[in-house]
Amino acid sequence: MRKENNDRMGWEENVRKVTPYVPGEQPENKKVIKLNTNECPYPPAPGIRKLAGSIDYSRLRLYPDTEAKRLSEALCGYYHIMPEQLFTGIGSDDVLAMSFLTFFNSGKPVLFPDITYSFYDVWAGLFRIPYQQKKLDEKFRIVKEDYMTENGGIVIPNPNAPTGVLEGVDVLEEIVAANPGSVVIIDEAYVDFGGESCLKLIDRYENLLVVRTFSKSRAMAGLRIGFAMGSPKLIHYLKDAKFSFNSYTMNMLSVELGAEAVRDEKYFQDTIKKIVATRERVKKELLGMGFVFPDSKGNFIFAAHPEVPAKKIFEELKVRGIYVRYWEKPRIDNYLRITVGTDEEMDILINNLRSIMKNKPE
Ligand code: PMP
Repeated sequence: MRKENNDRMGWEENVRKVTPYVPGEQPENKKVIKLNTNECPYPPAPGIRKLAGSIDYSRLRLYPDTEAKRLSEALCGYYHIMPEQLFTGIGSDDVLAMSFLTFFNSGKPVLFPDITYSFYDVWAGLFRIPYQQKKLDEKFRIVKEDYMTENGGIVIPNPNAPTGVLEGVDVLEEIVAANPGSVVIIDEAYVDFGGESCLKLIDRYENLLVVRTFSKSRAMAGLRIGFAMGSPKLIHYLKDAKFSFNSYTMNMLSVELGAEAVRDEKYFQDTIKKIVATRERVKKELLGMGFVFPDSKGNFIFAAHPEVPAKKIFEELKVRGIYVRYWEKPRIDNYLRITVGTDEEMDILINNLRSIMKNKPE
């Protein structure tokens, strides 16, 4: 009996211990105005609903196509790339995690900004990859020279999250060119909302991987579709790792419905236009209330108020049924990340912010 207890103590020492990523809340209450996880406030392309209703359900007994061919064809046609330059996965989180596992294998530290997507350090921790976080300047811009030192890989989101700050492709190209010895990942989760993509560089730089998602601009976070574009060599290595882990990542519905989303270009562009127009309007309203924020090119605004602590505003909004995102972390603990919702949702947010500001909670 005693030995058993000791053994039980023993196994715990050998567990891979990690500090997990904390996703934004997904409340069940549909009445909540949900501006906390950068989802699209509009439904996906209408053709998807029609197609979803007509899919032969008996096909669900079969394993899905391991190459996600229908989706791949649609994406290759849309982005003018070859199938050998495309990798698909279960949201860009899956694609990014697999990329960390595959490419950041040198034992040297991987570099990314100190204020950035809070999953990067979690994957580094999970895979035991050393990393260094490079401090953004006071305007939340990256300092390119920081990424020109010895490293085991680089990951930069563009636009950055949660700041929304967009970096020029010229600066990112300099970083990619200065690092032929490591893989540079540009995470373009939000690039459709007004950024210039690094995609045009993938034919020139074998070490560049551009990662995208259907979760934001294509309004399909629930289906979990992400993809990466890069040189055939990079994609080959990524697929080798993926097929050594789980060959059936892309389910049949995601493949079919994702392909349909890519076909409806007009709906895609119209949705982006609406979100960008709302974002620009909300920026003006927030400025009028005294908020400060870096100029955002994403579907969110990272705002602070000089007089009222962000935590108080966050809590007050929550009580009123409006969820935004707040991190109690150094340098950003006075900021709120507010997803751009519909015009109606943003009007309710603005009215509530006005009323909170009037009472100025300490
Ligand atoms: N990259 C960034 C910068 C993000 O903000 C997100 C969304 N949380 C992702 C990647 C992952 O998105 P998804 O897995 O839904 O594609």
